[in-house]
Amino acid sequence: MSALRRRGESPAAAPLACPSAPPEWEGAQLIGVVEGSAHEPQVRFVTPRPVTPGLLALAEPVTPTEVFRFTAPCKEGACSQWREGHCGVAVATVAHVNPAEAMALPACAIRSECRWWHDAGADACRRCRFVVTDDAARSADYAAALAPD
Ligand code: SF4
Repeated sequence: MSALRRRGESPAAAPLACPSAPPEWEGAQLIGVVEGSAHEPQVRFVTPRPVTPGLLALAEPVTPTEVFRFTAPCKEGACSQWREGHCGVAVATVAHVNPAEAMALPACAIRSECRWWHDAGADACRRCRFVVTDDAARSADYAAALAPD
């Protein structure tokens, strides 16, 4: 992830890392595996690794974004979730996902360059492990907050 921008660097530097990207985005890497249940998912963060056809096939019969989390360079204004200079997914996640206050922040390889950490800090990070990119079981309010304008 060395091409990504680290927190505090200027916008002209490399982009930050989206922590909930689709695997088809350029530069995508696996960063997490969704464990737990449909209604109580919990992401196990892993050492980033390349997206390969074999990895994506492991998700079958569901889609990769239902069982894996991927990172890729944040597209900022070119992403449908971009809201007034920030990631709308981070904002919605802080508003609609219960945090894990008592738990330490997860061990995560991309924190220094993470878009959610950059935009919402620990408020997003404490909720991140409960986020499934393509989650049919998320609350109606959370789903509405993520709906494109
Ligand atoms: S929000 Fe926190 S745990 Fe999630 S990807 Fe970013 S730094 Fe890692």
